[in-house]
Amino acid sequence: MKRFQRVVIILIFIGVIAATYGVEFYGKYTVPIIMYHNAEPSERKGALNSVSNKNFEYQMAFLKRHKFNVISLTDLARAIREKSSLPHNSVVITFDDGYADNYHHAFPILKKYGFPATIFIVASLIEHENYLTWDQIKEMEFSGIDFGSHTLTHPYLPDLTRDQQRKEIIGSKEFIESRLGHTIHHFSYPIGGFNEDSKALAEEAGYLSACTTNRGYTRFNEDLYELKRIRFGNKDNVYWNVFVKLFGYYNLFRKPVNPY
Ligand SMILES: [Zn+2]
Repeated sequence: MKRFQRVVIILIFIGVIAATYGVEFYGKYTVPIIMYHNAEPSERKGALNSVSNKNFEYQMAFLKRHKFNVISLTDLARAIREKSSLPHNSVVITFDDGYADNYHHAFPILKKYGFPATIFIVASLIEHENYLTWDQIKEMEFSGIDFGSHTLTHPYLPDLTRDQQRKEIIGSKEFIESRLGHTIHHFSYPIGGFNEDSKALAEEAGYLSACTTNRGYTRFNEDLYELKRIRFGNKDNVYWNVFVKLFGYYNLFRKPVNPY
């Protein structure tokens, strides 16, 4: 065989492999869901679940500067349900636990950029020290912040019986709805822990989605009741850190963790 023919055959072979894996890779695009907890005035050493004002501002400015399509969790849930595709620069912002600092520190910055976000609140902790008040929640709702349930008492759900889980998952929804006067659409599992009962109850309750951390059986957010999220904190204050977490293929490189 002539040298030229050999080169052509090798190039075709490489092309076929690249196209196959390229399509496979492209199909794994997953809209990143950012997960925050505390939003504080400055960096707190060792606090993995905290973001300082300066770093939160950096991250939100990053989204703005790079023209990210910041969408609500409801828009994402709808797209997953309908299997419709979203632009490959979409992103969702969420907070867990309902700390008062979300109102004092994160909310002004979210408002400045006009970004939607979902805050998952623990029903029994509202109005307690360091947690949001109903008035703050209503004010934030008025400015486009959505509230979801993070249970009644923040237990590790897999340790509970099905009936106890029912109270936490369905009871919290009913309680928050009675206080806010409208439907609550989303749920997040405390510490990301869940089992089959938790998922079934979240669906039975009528939630459109349930978020975890990086726990679960699936990897690319194809299951609305185990949506994986990406933790953001104070280390995410340089370009490459933020880029890698948000380019839509981060879950390809993350080792799935058991749900409980
Ligand atoms: Zn929590």
